[in-house]
Amino acid sequence: MTALGHAAPTTFSGPPRLTGARKGASVIVLGAGLAGMLAAYELAKAGYKVQILEYQTRPGGRNWSLRGGDSYTEVGGATQKVAFAPGNYLNPGPWRIPYHHRGLLHYCQQFGVALEPFIQLNHNAYVHSSKAFGGKPQRYREVAVDFKGHISELLAKAVNQNALDDKLTKEDRERLLEALRGWGVLDKNMAYSSSLKVSAQRGYDHAPGGGVDGAPTPSQIFGLKDVLDPKIWNTMSFYFNYVMQTTMFQPVGGMDMIGKAFARQVRNLITYNAKVTKIAQGENGVTITYQDIPSNAVREVKADWCVCTIPASILSQLDVQVS
Ligand SMILES: Cc1cc2nc3c(=O)[nH]c(=O)nc-3n(C[C@H](O)[C@H](O)[C@H](O)COP(=O)(O)OP(=O)(O)OC[C@H]3O[C@@H](n4cnc5c(N)ncnc54)[C@H](O)[C@@H]3O)c2cc1C
Repeated sequence: MTALGHAAPTTFSGPPRLTGARKGASVIVLGAGLAGMLAAYELAKAGYKVQILEYQTRPGGRNWSLRGGDSYTEVGGATQKVAFAPGNYLNPGPWRIPYHHRGLLHYCQQFGVALEPFIQLNHNAYVHSSKAFGGKPQRYREVAVDFKGHISELLAKAVNQNALDDKLTKEDRERLLEALRGWGVLDKNMAYSSSLKVSAQRGYDHAPGGGVDGAPTPSQIFGLKDVLDPKIWNTMSFYFNYVMQTTMFQPVGGMDMIGKAFARQVRNLITYNAKVTKIAQGENGVTITYQDIPSNAVREVKADWCVCTIPASILSQLDVQVS
């Protein structure tokens, strides 16, 4: 979707101001995920007569949380029973709201969804590659600090051997060396080595404290070879991704708090258990065919417009006659 330009970054600067609904004009929204419910909310506010058809028995779509006592039967027929302790939950779909998802953040505030920070980057977490450190997991902070230290040392060597003279002015050269010394925590010889200064970033063998044995001892740095393992440096570069940057948020109590809050705004508009099978556009509007799952009855509804939020992978299996 991103490649096709359909998943572009948000330009959200406030909710849409929809006006001009023809009196009595109707819209059928397919799917009660966040996209469908939000479309329905804004369209209803603008004066359209809106109905949402949703296949499942709950709102939210992929925005979903599982708690103790829940059960779910998968497409293949296997039933998963959730036996978490009270208060625990799992978000099988989305977990994280980046700070730049401004549209969603706006509606969370408007619909009263309490948010809290999501711990996206944990410097104390383990990083693992079977090909590095003899397969032993290591702390993120240690490998991240060692990676930048070793790379800084190598770059400083290249600069000092005049290998980058065609790229750097004399002034830039001095500034770069100074930056590498500070950023990479290099010693006076521009080498990356174990020291208390390095340990102030990657952690100590014995952390500074009080009392007679309060003096810190530095930790031993890792060699360059291990931190060059792709799984190791990829883990670090992951957090540079725009959509993975901190500050990240999550709803208090589970991701489905968002779906539930959206559903409170449009609860009277949703028909659950409605499996859409056909979308047909005509001269005067659109006809939707759906199966009422409990009764197996096939029904048709007509409207002037249709907003379809059924994911493309499912839509491609439906009978869609639109121009
Ligand atoms: C594992 C996973 C992790 C993710 N993590 C993140 C994350 O951390 N942060 C983030 O921002 N995004 C994340 N996403 C993406 C995010 O979940 C989706 O972009 C978003 O939920 C899509 O919302 P939607 O309303 O467009 O679609 P959906 O939520 O899929 O809603 C579509 C609705 O259509 C219904 N439907 C389907 N077929 C029919 C039919 N035939 N008839 C009637 N109704 C039908 C479905 O039941 C569903 O309710 C993640 C997605 C997944 C799967």
